[in-house]
Amino acid sequence: MTSQPLQQLNRLQTRWKPLLSRPDWYLSIIPEIEELVGELVNEPTSLRDAVKARLYDFFEFHLVRGDIALGPPCSVDGDRKPIDTIVIHHTSNPRGMRPSRLSAIELIRLYAPYFAKPTYRGDKSRQGQPIYSGHVRNGEQVFWPYHWIVRHDGRTERLLQDSEIGWHAGNWEVNCRSVAIALDGDYEEDRPSFIELQGIGALIRRHYPKVSLLRVVGHREVNPKTSCPSNLFLDSANVAGWKSDLLALMGKGDAATVG
Ligand SMILES: [Zn+2]
Repeated sequence: MTSQPLQQLNRLQTRWKPLLSRPDWYLSIIPEIEELVGELVNEPTSLRDAVKARLYDFFEFHLVRGDIALGPPCSVDGDRKPIDTIVIHHTSNPRGMRPSRLSAIELIRLYAPYFAKPTYRGDKSRQGQPIYSGHVRNGEQVFWPYHWIVRHDGRTERLLQDSEIGWHAGNWEVNCRSVAIALDGDYEEDRPSFIELQGIGALIRRHYPKVSLLRVVGHREVNPKTSCPSNLFLDSANVAGWKSDLLALMGKGDAATVG
């Protein structure tokens, strides 16, 4: 009984494989993914996670192999503004996120649904057209939403360049003027360690010293539809959130000595 969704995903993947080379592959595939995910709502978390992992495996594998039809890398960064905002996220996925996996995840979680139903009037013509991000690494397009990822040991890794707009805030105006920093893991009910906070603080101090601490915000503060980066990010009635820890640490200047 419980393996049914996995069997269903196997069947879907067999059908999807030959479709991936079509420019509009996502028009038929994304609704099927949404339906499958919708059916999992009442299933145990372990099964939901297993299906999600299998789904991401499939798209990462085919994206890396170049099996998925993509458009020419037209620039989408024309709206980039001076950076005055830092948005903190978590990947809400298992730790150790590979850049290639993040790219595949965001291709099907952000880019493909957007190209299937473009919301901005000027983008209507994108519907059904091959997907592009305009962000190229080693000759291949990447679909990263974040500029940086912060690992469990506090190390920070660069993803997007600052000149590139990340699709991360769910708010284009914020995307255009911000950089996105993501914790590598699921912090929904967890606090990042002091070392991780130091990593974030040092990164901001070193690369974005002119951004006011008032404009260091969590994803949930610019998009109320999400709890990202954590339910414990903001202060609650009797507990200080870890945003306060981060700002206190940066205010003290501790962060500047690390990284
Ligand atoms: Zn987020």
